[in-house]
Amino acid sequence: MMNQDCLFCKIIAGKIPSAKVYEDELVYAFKDITPIAPVHYLFVPKTHICCAKKINAENSNYIASIFEAIAKVAENENLDSYRVINNCGEDAGQSVMHLHFHMVAGKKMGWGEQSLG
Ligand code: 5GP
Ligand code: ZN
Repeated sequence: MMNQDCLFCKIIAGKIPSAKVYEDELVYAFKDITPIAPVHYLFVPKTHICCAKKINAENSNYIASIFEAIAKVAENENLDSYRVINNCGEDAGQSVMHLHFHMVAGKKMGWGEQSLG
């Protein structure tokens, strides 16, 4: 199910352009418009799930597919190291309320609250 008012639902539907990096039946992935590293992709389920809080037994197949997709992209692009990030909720930095996983690579990353800033 798609949400007409949702930015990422519009991107999945092709109503807003995006730089696609991967697509299958359940998953769409595209370049982040404001990259924080040389490689910065967003992986989203092709159904409207607001956030990680709403992952459940009925929709977790999308999550499994997203992580399979991330592994495929990493292999295709020879990404030896990468970080997968999900921001859930406002204080964690979630700004688009359609579940997404950031895939970040191409630079040495620190660890800690501000390490990706
Ligand atoms: P969040 O802050 O919710 O974890 O991540 C949302 C991400 O979506 C941000 O990194 C932001 O740069 C990206 N973003 C926001 N609007 C657009 C857009 O219209 N196109 C693309 N490709 N990325 C977007
Ligand atoms: Zn959506």
